[in-house]
Amino acid sequence: MQFQNSQSFAQQLDANDPLKSFRQQFIIPAENGKEKVYFLGNSLGLQPKRTNNFIQKIMNDWATHGVESFFHANEPWMDYHDQLTQSLSKIVGCLPHEVSVMNNLTVNLHLMLVSFYRPQGKRTKILCETKAFPSDQYMMETHIKHHGLDPATNIIEIKPRTGEHAIRNEDVLQMIVEHKDELALVLLGGINYYSGQVFDMQTITQLAQQAGAKVGFDLAHAAGNIELNLHDWHVDFACWCSYKYLNSGPGAVAAVFIHEKYHKDETMIRFGGWWGYDKPTRFKMDKGFKPMLSAEGWQLGTPAMFMYASARAALEVVEEAGWENINQKRKLLTAYLWYILDEVNASQTNPIIEFITPRNETEHGCQLSMNMLQRGKEIYNALMKQGFYVDWREPSVIRLAPVPLYNGFEEVWKFGDCLKSIL
Ligand SMILES: *Cc1c(COP(=O)(O)O)cnc(C)c1O
Repeated sequence: MQFQNSQSFAQQLDANDPLKSFRQQFIIPAENGKEKVYFLGNSLGLQPKRTNNFIQKIMNDWATHGVESFFHANEPWMDYHDQLTQSLSKIVGCLPHEVSVMNNLTVNLHLMLVSFYRPQGKRTKILCETKAFPSDQYMMETHIKHHGLDPATNIIEIKPRTGEHAIRNEDVLQMIVEHKDELALVLLGGINYYSGQVFDMQTITQLAQQAGAKVGFDLAHAAGNIELNLHDWHVDFACWCSYKYLNSGPGAVAAVFIHEKYHKDETMIRFGGWWGYDKPTRFKMDKGFKPMLSAEGWQLGTPAMFMYASARAALEVVEEAGWENINQKRKLLTAYLWYILDEVNASQTNPIIEFITPRNETEHGCQLSMNMLQRGKEIYNALMKQGFYVDWREPSVIRLAPVPLYNGFEEVWKFGDCLKSIL
């Protein structure tokens, strides 16, 4: 499509947007009646209007039936999990029983490493990206120590080449080959939180597994953002949170994917709890752990029903919009953002923005990370003051993520216009 840098053109794109009505499904932050331009869905997705009702329903069940709600609520709490895994399995591309909704992301990473990081002999190392999200770094460090090993020699970090911001896929593959006899696990962010780079999960998985390693992805920035095919890619496991692109609210319940090839293997080492116990006989409360033969077999304790309810509300909005429509709009929206930012750069004597995020459509999702070449903090402050919610990362990076469910093309145009006027 031939884009134009004009408000009327952006309005035309909005008018033709099949998802334009979905903005009304969300509460948009506003001040004195003026809506903010919220480009921080990569950090905390906005609140769907219906979430309140879903939580209220749990309150009512609790009031009406007490603990009997697990079996006798209008929608019994015992089966609530299935409705979540149905929706999520479409978003991450797998079978419903390969998803379990539980805990938070960092806890789940630990639980998955219990099962999938089994250092033995020479094969003790974890390959990850440099500058992984801090929680992931601390998780790996402390997990390695828990095995009595030294993190300094057992974590291999892949870096971008000098002068580059993204990590080349060929370099990831090269590292796997180089360390093939020592790798126990390859663990990468599906999308790096800082750069917004999408890794080629399929080729990485294939090569790492050929090398004899297990492969997991942290999909905090990928789930609900880009198309995934975890089952067909044969990924061993993946974890994600639900408060970024999945709009389930602060501290929302997270989820894991565990490939079905592991479900029936009762020798899998794991940390168990009663909520992972075989469902039909769980309440016999017998001695000896007998896991459910699905991803639910990794659950630990009683689910947080309020959190389930907020996840359900948010997933229902995704279902109504249609995951394919969301992806189509995302591609057009980010392409327009890129075009607008190129125009901003071109309007200056010297470029002001250096893009950290790879430009290729298959290598990024909603998020664009801009390294500001001058006056970064000042520009960020001015943007925030004028009602554009973006995010600042030291030393000079502004991240922004227009989200297809509630952001529009005119907002992107306005952002470019405001940025130019600040400059
Ligand atoms: C957001 C994010 C987290 C946060 O983990 P929580 O346990 O939900 O606090 C972890 N890892 C990555 C890559 C993230 O983007």
